[in-house]
Amino acid sequence: MPVAGADQDVSPWRVAATAGWFGARRALFYAAAPRAIRRSAARPGTPSLAPGRPRHRSFAMPELPEVRLYVNALDARITGQPIERVRLRSPSLLKTFDPPVSELVGKRVRAIGRIGKRIVLHVDDDLHAVIHLMIAGRFQWRDVGAPLPGKRAAGALDFPNGTLILTEASTKKRMSMWVVRGDEALRGLDPGGVEPLEVNFQGFRAALVRENRTLKRALTDPRILSGIGNAHSDEILLAAGLSPVRLTSRLSTGELRRLYEATRTSLREWTERLRAEAGGDFPKKVTAFHPAMAVHGKFGKPCPRCGAPIQRIVYASRETNYCPECQTGGRLLADRALSRLLRRDWPRTLEELEAIRTPDTA
Ligand SMILES: [Zn+2]
Repeated sequence: MPVAGADQDVSPWRVAATAGWFGARRALFYAAAPRAIRRSAARPGTPSLAPGRPRHRSFAMPELPEVRLYVNALDARITGQPIERVRLRSPSLLKTFDPPVSELVGKRVRAIGRIGKRIVLHVDDDLHAVIHLMIAGRFQWRDVGAPLPGKRAAGALDFPNGTLILTEASTKKRMSMWVVRGDEALRGLDPGGVEPLEVNFQGFRAALVRENRTLKRALTDPRILSGIGNAHSDEILLAAGLSPVRLTSRLSTGELRRLYEATRTSLREWTERLRAEAGGDFPKKVTAFHPAMAVHGKFGKPCPRCGAPIQRIVYASRETNYCPECQTGGRLLADRALSRLLRRDWPRTLEELEAIRTPDTA
């Protein structure tokens, strides 16, 4: 197990070399592979409305409200604290090798930030540690020097007042950490989508109609909008009364305005709700699937607005839920034209969309 830090368990250069090999290999793959090869790794499935087994939801990827919850909890605990040690267990966690992760040791966390769904530790000397939890990555806050727990631990950052443990409860190791220096390198990790809670209506509309996309794709594409994923996009579309397969180019100004307001209201309400539920404790069981959601994960259940049974589109590894009465004029989304549309413009997997880093590499 590679370990970096002041305790000299293992020399820092070895950590850099180990992590660097994996990081470099991955970076080279993404830089060199043609788009078709990168896409094929995602293995798109076929759209279906067939009733299947309920999907496993305990590890829905944290989205903007959940990530903000972590940002607040981390800010309260580690802003101003020095990083005393970095422990890495998962060889796939670290995606960069220069600067080496050992450079973080002894430096102080100056602020906690966020780029979309990525959490950023801004550290002394213009260093930034950026963490994307993806689907199954999570944080735990433990006592000083706590041991790494079982197979799920990916690594830890040790502080004088506690230990931030990174876990990933999946055999697919997708959680990612980048250590970069300088603002420009940090911007390189920004997929470029607008912040839905900060952008004005004009900016929102411009981002949404720049490409002609299905609404589901547009909302969940981090190059278009920042921080929204599968769960909150379903809730937003119900609140806006818009079909997930509507094309952005066909939306009227009134519909765009409704979507803008629904997006902000829904994300704000969920942020407040999660904050109230967590209280001052470090967030536990963080997931973008919440039993109190109106439509996401509610296939077959009555819509809280109109009582009609919630429907779903299952495509590849994700499920989209909608209310036909509130969103599609009573129509079930199940025909051949829809299948073609989904193949062309639907988020295939979370990993694929999240792997998009900048417009240039998309
Ligand atoms: Zn309804």
